[in-house]
Amino acid sequence: MLEQAQRILKDIFGYDAFRGNQGAIIERVANGGDALVLMPTGGGKSLCFQVPALLREGLAVVVSPLIALMDDQVATLDELGVAAVALNSSLDAEAQREIAARIERGEIKLLYLAPERLVQPRMLAFLQRLPQIALFAIDEAHCVSQWGHDFRPEYLQLGQLAELFPTVPRIALTATADMRTREEIVNRLHLQQAERFLSSFDRPNIFYRIVPKEQPRKQLLAFLAARKGDAGIVYCLSRKKVEEVAAFLSEQGFPALPYHAGLSNELRAYHQKRFLNEEGLIMVATIAFGMGIDKPNVRFVAHLDLPKSLEAYYQETGRAGRDGLPADAWMAYGLQDVIFLKQMLNNSEGDERHKRVEQHKLDAMLALCEETRCRRQALLAYFDEELPQPCGHCDTCSDDVQTWDATEPARQALSAIYRSGQRYGVGHLVDLLLGRDNDKVRSLGHQHLSVFGVGKALAEGEWRSLFRQLVARGLADVDLEGYGGLRLSDSCRPLLRGEVSLQLRRDLKPQHSAKGSSSAASQLVRGEEREQWEALRALRRKLAEEHGVPPYVIFPDATLLEMLRSQPGTLAEMARVSGVGARKLERYGEAFLEVLGGAADAPPVVVDLRHELISLARAGMTPAQIASQLRCSERNVFNLLAEAIGRQQLSLEQALDLPEDLLGEVQDAFLDGEGELPPVAAIAPLFVGRLEEGVLHCVRAALQAEFEV
Ligand code: ADP
Ligand code: ZN
Repeated sequence: MLEQAQRILKDIFGYDAFRGNQGAIIERVANGGDALVLMPTGGGKSLCFQVPALLREGLAVVVSPLIALMDDQVATLDELGVAAVALNSSLDAEAQREIAARIERGEIKLLYLAPERLVQPRMLAFLQRLPQIALFAIDEAHCVSQWGHDFRPEYLQLGQLAELFPTVPRIALTATADMRTREEIVNRLHLQQAERFLSSFDRPNIFYRIVPKEQPRKQLLAFLAARKGDAGIVYCLSRKKVEEVAAFLSEQGFPALPYHAGLSNELRAYHQKRFLNEEGLIMVATIAFGMGIDKPNVRFVAHLDLPKSLEAYYQETGRAGRDGLPADAWMAYGLQDVIFLKQMLNNSEGDERHKRVEQHKLDAMLALCEETRCRRQALLAYFDEELPQPCGHCDTCSDDVQTWDATEPARQALSAIYRSGQRYGVGHLVDLLLGRDNDKVRSLGHQHLSVFGVGKALAEGEWRSLFRQLVARGLADVDLEGYGGLRLSDSCRPLLRGEVSLQLRRDLKPQHSAKGSSSAASQLVRGEEREQWEALRALRRKLAEEHGVPPYVIFPDATLLEMLRSQPGTLAEMARVSGVGARKLERYGEAFLEVLGGAADAPPVVVDLRHELISLARAGMTPAQIASQLRCSERNVFNLLAEAIGRQQLSLEQALDLPEDLLGEVQDAFLDGEGELPPVAAIAPLFVGRLEEGVLHCVRAALQAEFEV
């Protein structure tokens, strides 16, 4: 089974090896077992049901919550030569009947639909009438959870599949890891028998950086400067800010589009489509922009405002780098964010218990911001996953963050809050500590306070950083009225009394704060490769437009990059590039070879026909496809294939895709007599009109090779 799966992986998808749990999951489902798959974004969940769908008889039914997700997968499968369709409300009755007819004729391998459509009685009855269902895949299975923010009531009805189709394997997939969601999925979808496959939730290709917010727009520009031409998402909290930042970036020469719930549906859909189809666009968005964004080559996610929880942070940053290439998660965060979120929380509706939970979540987010050790270790630890070593791929690891003993200054700061009456914001408090003799200070008579001017040893920025960290750690509270005044909290007493000391993070100089991963995405391509890289991308863009699909559906960046690095000169070499399956090799192989070779019109020079032919057959091409690629007759191809089989350079399965019963019949015909194998001509009449003679030559060669051993 696994061998067959491997072959499909190479032939259809063009990949050499399964990743992580993929192999085990595929084996489980292909053998008819249920599975619950928890895998991070970009982990490769789709293959986990697409490969079993191809291995098993019958139609595979895939439930997906969003049209955009379905369309993307159908387009991708289409390009791979796999028959897949999405049934959605945008199709008219005629088109739907047509699809039903094709399904009944067994012409469709994968059917994508929304949960509400699947559970319609008519649809269920239709599926029950089919001779066989290969499997049910329930994508984004966390939508069944009432506590998550992606809850979709229709998902609750999917539980009935267990009773209606007791013999059909079901696989549920999600990138949401927490225990509670996991148990809810199992219970509500009746997946008690499912084997669970839990992957690491680490996203090793993402570089995490969190910088203190000073001049956010300028900082954002500095961050973007090294990433010109990359696609990314900038998250902001408010609609207004989204609009402003999008306009600002566009002005500055970074093409950007706004996205938030206040825009019309049409405009949102249009911006989303542009983001998917064009390269190098930046989406400036509220968190309304999220699920359904399967664009694999989002190179960065930047936060200009603090998310409310680590769950949100992980999910939002996780939209970067699904393709596994280096990507950046960058965030600027400051005291204002903390104040704002704390106030929002205080003013929110809901019972005390709920508020406490939210408060804990925010505290965990703040702790990550002020973390002095490895960010990745801290992030994963929150999700109960232990990373034994610091990652070496986040800002704290790579910049060697310093801590300093802030015990004394912290006490001065707390004392300034207390002596001035626990009602002033950070600006005024810093003025006091620095001994600034300004109007406000004078009018309040604060120049007479004992703390006035005691803090001249630190610079203004250092004081601000200190106040931010005091609030983030809960040593000082923000007033509830919304003026940003600070108060002492109960937990600061031990510090004031001198019972504990306080180590704080030393903020880095701003010039550091723009740097990303050492191999930032736009530096993936070295100077001298640029020209060819752009040429490859231009060709991809052209093909994508012709086919009406996003560029990454033609080839992902990783595949283009591998072409650039390995410089295939022949189709056989091209077939070895990860992500180039048989269908794409046939469709696009030559065009990309031309760009790489630079020779526009010269036909590909086949250095060694036999060698090339063997490689193409191994890559999964049919004899007809090979003939057209090598520009020779099909008959010739069959002869060469038979020859290669005879020399055992190629197996029969690699050369031909024959149904098993037909193959058996041919073999029986050859083996019927005694002694020597009869010549092809002797049995050919039995198969006239059913098989080409060349096929018989190949089968004969295989039998002969077998007997000679
Ligand atoms: P998920 O749904 O888990 O977010 P996808 O299924 O979209 O992830 O896969 C992410 C990317 O990784 C896709 O571009 C996919 O083609 C690629 N991929 C998946 N499995 C493999 C593999 N075994 N080898 C190489 N690339 C893979
Ligand atoms: Zn680290």
